[in-house]
Amino acid sequence: MCHSFLVNSLMLRRGFTWQLHTSTAHPDFNLTSNLYRHSVLRTPLIHLSTKDTHKACAVLFRTTPENDRGTPHCLEHLVLCGSQRYPVRDPFFSMLNRSLNTYMNAWTGPDFTAYPFSTLNSKDFENLLRVYLDSVLFPRLRDIDFKQEAVRLEMTEKGLVYGGVVFNEMKGAMTEPQAHFLHQLSKHLYPGTTYQYNSGGDPEAIPQLTNAELKAFHRRFYHPSNSTIFLYGDMDISRTLALIDEEYFHKFQYQEVDSEVKPAKRLSAPIHLKQPCAPSPAPIDPAAQAMFAVSFLCDSACADPYTAFCLSVLSAVLHDGQKSPLYLALLESGLGKEYVPGAGFDHSTKEAAFTMGVNGCKEAEIDQIAAVIDTTLRGIVDKGVPTDLLESAIHQIEIKQVLASAERSEKQLRTGTHQRHDALCSAWRQSSHSPQYQRVLKSLERGLGSGKAGLSGPH
Ligand SMILES: [Zn+2]
Repeated sequence: MCHSFLVNSLMLRRGFTWQLHTSTAHPDFNLTSNLYRHSVLRTPLIHLSTKDTHKACAVLFRTTPENDRGTPHCLEHLVLCGSQRYPVRDPFFSMLNRSLNTYMNAWTGPDFTAYPFSTLNSKDFENLLRVYLDSVLFPRLRDIDFKQEAVRLEMTEKGLVYGGVVFNEMKGAMTEPQAHFLHQLSKHLYPGTTYQYNSGGDPEAIPQLTNAELKAFHRRFYHPSNSTIFLYGDMDISRTLALIDEEYFHKFQYQEVDSEVKPAKRLSAPIHLKQPCAPSPAPIDPAAQAMFAVSFLCDSACADPYTAFCLSVLSAVLHDGQKSPLYLALLESGLGKEYVPGAGFDHSTKEAAFTMGVNGCKEAEIDQIAAVIDTTLRGIVDKGVPTDLLESAIHQIEIKQVLASAERSEKQLRTGTHQRHDALCSAWRQSSHSPQYQRVLKSLERGLGSGKAGLSGPH
């Protein structure tokens, strides 16, 4: 209570630029999560305040592509090629050597782009914050950098070919059968949404991208009103908030940005898809190179964190350990070499997915594998989840949580780095490091103790 009054008073002096919305203590993690909102731009800013001198920051934008040209990925590369205030070729990379940073990165997710860093030094933190904000809000986006980083035509001995850093990266990535499989799965599981597109870029489509389109994408999505800022660590928060506003945010007006991920179209019956894929250059068994998965579209984990947590536990029960039902039925039996890419409960997208299957199987045995998965699930519905497997899965989650707290600052940062602007819910979804996690786990354990486990059948 006192704390919020203090921060609000500071805000008063700063002209109400940032308003503290909620302040919640989390004694288990020795931190307080403070959610601020910019009064003009409505940008949420989450500060996980701790005594940890390791300071971290992530600037995120929700970036929802509408084609396969890899616009978010190319933009992520280009914003690091110089900005208004730092008009050098690579301000980002020159800071890598010059600063005392302990982590600097940028990455493109299916519906967001993230720019995280961390450092132990306060002055370095402010310098990095300036470089990051200037890069993302005021990048140069020069044609020459587009040709270098995104895509270009170049003359070689073989004639005209496409080049460019992103084009070559994606050409390499998409020849990997696993990446190809995951992309195809996403494309067909989420029809009508941004997830049907390859945010990294499909090498077939990247050459259609132009720098004008990239600049329009930047204008639309890289606006403070479409961003979230995460801060972690012991810092003078009023000074950090003032820096963000006085040096950057005050130059903007609120902008309504349509970047919400739409719900995927529901199917009335299962669809069966068969996709060709390049063979592995060095297969363990040339006769068993197929991948097969059954995947279910689930509801948003944010909408129902308890059910989502139960599905995570169910995924662990089904897949983890040599006594788990799917391990015995699919791997021990020799039907496949390993689980299929993306196996388990994946809630990294707005609507989650539950996937089961194998990699390294024979195409002729696919019907049999589908039947085995069906039988295994029906067995769980009829008999319930074996209590020993359930207890073991929950125990493993608790151990992971304890181990994760040892590497808190980076983890906490990752906890927050997410596209949706509901901080606590997102935090829960990304990791077990969250207050909701504790409550969900406790209620599940209570259910176990009273013989009413939360997982009585599939969801
Ligand atoms: Zn890249």
